[in-house]
Amino acid sequence: MSDCLFCKIAAGEIPSNKVYEDDTVLAFRDINPQAPTHILVIPKAHAADSAAQITAENSAVVAHCFEVIAKIAAQEGLDAGFRVITNAGAAAGQTVPHLHFHILAGADMAEKLL
Ligand code: 5GP
Ligand code: ZN
Repeated sequence: MSDCLFCKIAAGEIPSNKVYEDDTVLAFRDINPQAPTHILVIPKAHAADSAAQITAENSAVVAHCFEVIAKIAAQEGLDAGFRVITNAGAAAGQTVPHLHFHILAGADMAEKLL
């Protein structure tokens, strides 16, 4: 999608602080971190606006995102634990309508919803 922020980051048109990249998935540090470690994992292709659009046709990339999340957790040394969040829709706080997963770690999140 031509005016999608994360499509532009995936295409390298907007710079990002990359953590991981392969043919189909990119991970980079959130510009406004909500925890000491805050990484976004996105399919490079605009597979879906959000988790609300996952189907049998596009779910393989979601599985791959979670394989990447496990790799990043090991790479970043998140042995103490981490949280994965995906916001779907404005009422859930989604601001960028390109499917993505937040990895959050390094803060005590045990007693909180987010
Ligand atoms: P959402 O609110 O849609 O679940 O998450 C979007 C995230 O993208 C937010 O945490 C926000 O800080 C992050 N973000 C927005 N614009 C940029 C950007 O240009 N670069 C990076 N690295 N993160 C961004
Ligand atoms: Zn996009």
